[in-house]
Amino acid sequence: MPRQIYLDNAATTAMLPGAVADMLPFFTQHYGNPSSLYTLGQDAKTAISDSRARIAKHIRAQESDIYFTGSGTEADNWALKATMEAYSSKGRHLITSSIEHHALMHSAEWLEKQGFEVTWLPVDNNGFLNPADFEAAIRPDTVMASIIMANNEIGTIQPIKEMAAIARRHGVLFHTDAVQALTHIPVDVEDLGVDMLSASAHKFHGPKGVGFLYIRKGLKTKNFIHGGAQERKRRAGTENVPGIVGMASAMDWCMERFDERNAHETELRDHLIKRVLTEVEHVRLNGGHEPRLPNNANFSFEFVEGESLLLTLEQKGVLASSGSACASGSLDPSHVLLAIGLPHEIAHGSLRLSLGEDTTMAEIDHTVEAIKEVVVMLRRMSPLYEDFLQGKKPISAVKQ
Ligand SMILES: *Cc1c(COP(=O)(O)O)cnc(C)c1O
Repeated sequence: MPRQIYLDNAATTAMLPGAVADMLPFFTQHYGNPSSLYTLGQDAKTAISDSRARIAKHIRAQESDIYFTGSGTEADNWALKATMEAYSSKGRHLITSSIEHHALMHSAEWLEKQGFEVTWLPVDNNGFLNPADFEAAIRPDTVMASIIMANNEIGTIQPIKEMAAIARRHGVLFHTDAVQALTHIPVDVEDLGVDMLSASAHKFHGPKGVGFLYIRKGLKTKNFIHGGAQERKRRAGTENVPGIVGMASAMDWCMERFDERNAHETELRDHLIKRVLTEVEHVRLNGGHEPRLPNNANFSFEFVEGESLLLTLEQKGVLASSGSACASGSLDPSHVLLAIGLPHEIAHGSLRLSLGEDTTMAEIDHTVEAIKEVVVMLRRMSPLYEDFLQGKKPISAVKQ
């Protein structure tokens, strides 16, 4: 048994050694500025366009519709803020969901402070949006909608194709945050019919600090980062050449192994979910069974406090998350868990386990045993559990 079992791949992933190797020459050898006209710069420029072509092909986009950014967060900020501004003569209304990543959610909240109007669509208890609610929320002044494709906390996959078609019928632009989805479920911008799509390299074994925004040709979003003429004058700043090269390399690797990788993760995920739900008492699976990311499981354990659960699991070699990495460290329960109707106390006892292709069945079994021990131990110290055992407190919230 390895000393550490890494089950936090939704927070970030280990870089592929092959992608690191592909990046290295662009730090020390081909270090030229891609905007320089001599060969040293042109080598870097060629590497960028080669990477762009490969990435575009994987999502069936035009090369010229891929814009490199400094993160998934930047892509989300750009898509939302600059597009709402660019089309403000049409209207000031935006539709999004109540389970977006913080990058999207806080951008939408910022827009609200600037006088834009935001409709926050609810999800059901399993974490799914209803396309009919979406259509009903569209108004004549609705500029765009932004809906997360696969949720980073509970792994639920939304009917993006259906909602993008509704948006198009009503002349509303459609953006999706596909950061968790990419390389785990099919992402084809033509089939989905989306106008914009965000991605981030470090969620699929690429480097941190690089991502991209897909912008469909003809869409007149404004610039978000101002400066030089990079990225066809739409995103200024000297390109992160090694990062872009590493992102394309990691994406190639993941997409070549798409089927086997996701089949393996699905098998382990289902085994994990089945064991936890049958072998631990008073536990709930957060997010519906299907459609769900192949590598995500999220549970709430009643009478257990999430932070203690995490710390004790870490002592047993299991690295996981209590929600989104950005939410941990604060005591606010996750907005996603509240949106699926969990009461605060249950939302606090939540655990996200996100698997990788290197995760083994033995690691999953070790993790389940660790969870069982830790949950029993923490409940023994819980006054609420004591009350429950003495019949003073009913189990109210834990139901499937
Ligand atoms: C990680 C993540 C982001 C942010 O990407 P960064 O590159 O880390 O800024 C945005 N959306 C989702 C769904 C994510 O999981």
